[in-house]
This record gives sequence, structure tokens and C-alpha cells, in this order.
Amino acid sequence: MSVPLMDLRGQWEPLHDRISAAVDEVIRSGVFILGPNVKAFEAETAADIGVAHAVGVANGTDALILALRAYDIGVGDEVICPAYTFYSTPESIGAVGATPVFADIDGLTFQLDPAAVEAAVTERTRAIMAVHLFGHPAPMTELRAIADRHNLILIEDAAQSYGASLNGVRCGAIGDIATFSFFPTKNLGGFGDGGLVTTNDAEITERIRELRFHGSKDKRTFTQIGMNSRLDELQAAILRVLLPELAGWNDMRQAAAARYAELGLDRFVELPGTASGADPIYHLYVARCQDREAVQTALKAAEVGNVVYYDTPHHLQPVFADLGYAVGSLPETERAARECLALPMYPTLPPADQATLVGALEAALAPIA
Ligand SMILES: *Cc1c(COP(=O)(O)O)cnc(C)c1O
Repeated sequence: MSVPLMDLRGQWEPLHDRISAAVDEVIRSGVFILGPNVKAFEAETAADIGVAHAVGVANGTDALILALRAYDIGVGDEVICPAYTFYSTPESIGAVGATPVFADIDGLTFQLDPAAVEAAVTERTRAIMAVHLFGHPAPMTELRAIADRHNLILIEDAAQSYGASLNGVRCGAIGDIATFSFFPTKNLGGFGDGGLVTTNDAEITERIRELRFHGSKDKRTFTQIGMNSRLDELQAAILRVLLPELAGWNDMRQAAAARYAELGLDRFVELPGTASGADPIYHLYVARCQDREAVQTALKAAEVGNVVYYDTPHHLQPVFADLGYAVGSLPETERAARECLALPMYPTLPPADQATLVGALEAALAPIA
């Protein structure tokens, strides 16, 4: 690929010495599980996000499972979520024995459509799991109102959106509880797996702290089936070096998104939309194509990286066949799955690469209406 989809080395290289020093310090300390770096990282992320409590866990999928378990959501319960998202979202709901109920999305922002969420509420609904997809906030004001009306827990899957905000409030500080992932390609990505749960609820925080350590309060008495799901001390030490850089990296992603618009990319594909009050951080830059195959052919010829995410939405995946969703049941979800394409996006994306991409489309395609 002459233009890669993503290349994160440029963001890590200037920090290499500091990261190595942080790793060395952990090795010398001999403390690898729930040590001072995890504790400090929890305090630093909580302060940064603007929330009372943060708990470091093993990965973003466990973070979702722990959030559901902390509220005793399980067998017989329904949780409303999108079908256009990474698999962990509905997988976590299934993992606790609850049933995902898929609601359609808004075609402009790819986020949950509040009217579809409202229509999906039943007697058995316990929670809404909103995803801030691609780094754009979900419509949390509307979802909060629905959750309040029906007495539901509002969960934010913020795995793709560390640093994004809605009306000045950061993703992760809006719902009842929120989850993050530090998988290497996320905006705040470590050198392995990691995750975080955030909430303002002290009691729920205590539940998560127990559940991540085999469900035990004192590490000797076992009163419930828990999990072994901790953020590693080494990952926490690395993430503490990266965290102060993240706001700058997110600014660079926003600048790259603006540059795509300035280059006239909208002549060939529909650019990702932004809801009013939303400050997205472009975890992925996902455009809608009238003829996706033609766009991909043009990009392939110019060796420009691109990828289709979530081409089979979850309501049509084999694992959820028993739920009985038919093709056509979530029209905007299915349209996004057919038309969307992720284009190169990362903090140090060279402007020349963006120009190469637009030039490749100019050479191959007629402008869209
Ligand atoms: C990455 C991701 C997760 C899961 O995170 P892991 O750390 O890989 O377990 C959950 N939800 C969404 C939307 C994600 O993008």
C-alpha cells in the first residue's frame, strides 16, 4: 500500500524512550497486578473524562460484561443496542445471558435512532447500550429521556470515542455507566489489551472492583461468581505516557477530517455527518458510497488503503438467527453496511496521502450529484 489505512508508529516513535522507561520502572518494582500505575491511571482518566470513578479492566469487552453484571442484568432481560457496531456490543449482552434487541440507526451519523430505540422498549427491557460509533457521540440527550421514561440503565460503549464530547460533556461521563477499550488501534491504544469502566455511582464502582477480582471483597471470601479481569500494571504504565498526548492526536484527526472536506472528497462520496452539539474524534473516517465497488476499485488501483467494517450487521449474523430478524428489518443499518467504507485516518496521516486518495477518485469516477 502506498497510502496505508492506518499507521500508528508516528504517534508512538517520539515517545519510545519514555515508554521504555515506564516499562523498566514496572519491571524493577516487581508489581504487575493492580499496582500504583493502575491506581494512578484510574484517577487520571476519571479526572480527564470528568467522572467520579474509573476502574481498569482487562479489555473493552469485559468492561461491557462487567457493566451489565454490576446492574444484575442477565437471563430474561433485554438490552437495546445497535446492530451496526463491533461485535462486542451485542456479544457482551449475550455473554451475561440477556437478549440484545437491535434498534436501527440514523443514516447521517450512523448512531442509534432514538425513535427506533423507543419503539423497541418492552416490559423486559433493562438497559440501552448506546455506542459512540466511529468516535461520534450517540444522541445521548434523547436516549437519556427514553431511559428515564422507562426506568432503564443507560450504558455508553465508548470504546471508539475517548475524547469525543456532546454539548461539552465527554463521552464516558454522560450515561449511568460507560466502557472504554485500549486495544492498540483505538484512539487511546496501549501495547496490548486493556479496558476501563467509568461511572459516578460509588456502589456500582465497588461492584465492578469486586467482580474484576473473582467477585471477592477481601480476596479470601468468595460470595459470587466473578471474573479475572484487570488492567495490567504494564499497560497502565504505558497508557499513562500516552494519555496526555491524546487531546493533541484527536485534534490532528479532526484536522485530517477537515482536510478531506477541503480537498473536495464530497464530490465522490458522502462525508460522515456531525450531529448538532457533537464533537467527534474520528476513530474511523467512514464515508458512504453510492457505488462502493467502484470506489474500492479506484482506490485499489492507486494502492490506497480502505476497509469495509460491519458488512454483515449483527441482526443478520448466524449467532443471533434465533432472534428472528429478517433482511430489511433494519433498513438504515443495512444501507450503512452496504454503502460505508473506512478511508485512511490516523493522527499523523500525511496531507499528501489524502490528496493522493482524492486524486485517485478524480481520475476514476464521475462526481456524484
Ligand atoms: C473495540 C470495541 C470493543 C471491544 O474492545 P476490546 O478491548 O477489543 O475487547 C467494544 N465495543 C466497540 C464499539 C469497539 O469498537
